[in-house]
Amino acid sequence: MNIQENYSALKAAVAAAAKNANRDPRDVLLLAVTKSVDLPQVQELYDLGVRHFAENREPELLRKTAALPKDIIWHFIGPLQSNKVRKVVKNAQVIHALDSLALIERVDRICGEENRHPDVMLEINISGEASKGGFSVAEALPAAQLAASCKNIRLTGLMTMAPNHAEKKVLQQVFGGLAALRDRLAKELDLPLPTLSMGMSGDFETAIVCGATVVRIGSALFV
Ligand SMILES: *Cc1c(COP(=O)(O)O)cnc(C)c1O
Repeated sequence: MNIQENYSALKAAVAAAAKNANRDPRDVLLLAVTKSVDLPQVQELYDLGVRHFAENREPELLRKTAALPKDIIWHFIGPLQSNKVRKVVKNAQVIHALDSLALIERVDRICGEENRHPDVMLEINISGEASKGGFSVAEALPAAQLAASCKNIRLTGLMTMAPNHAEKKVLQQVFGGLAALRDRLAKELDLPLPTLSMGMSGDFETAIVCGATVVRIGSALFV
């Protein structure tokens, strides 16, 4: 595993994909997903200048936040169980995958109690696969209205997961669909909603062409 080489190559690939799409590379965050690695690998990326890291499970988030530098910005990208909300909001500044109205209300209430003010995204199940979490496209407007009305969380956009190993055409439908939904919600709510969290190791270039502002990269950093 050569993390430095992998990171350099991925940074260059993200920048090239942005330029190809006539976008500013600085508008795309390469979010390092560290769920499959231990503390030294995270520290190595930190020493290369990376500050945004993501975990998808609460115990691992807590273990890493406790042990690693305090200026890391931690993103929670996994499904969030209601009994894990307090620990997650105390340790993560960004929450990517709010997926029910009850969870939105609970996260906002607990953020009030803990005086935390995370950026949040709604997870949308654009592909409609039964195995995937998230709001349907039809549920997205009421969910966004609820989240936007909350006092303690800040709704910044949407997140989705594409089907595994999908063809480019399918990826374009999923990522393009999320971008179109974001545009519609932003207009209906009169809110900016700048964030599109979409694209992983296997599909980030297509996601960037479709407007991704956060690509969540795990395995390609640590091969
Ligand atoms: C693991 C994970 C990723 C990273 O996936 P890779 O294919 O390893 O890049 C991105 N998003 C979520 C929600 C994940 O759980």
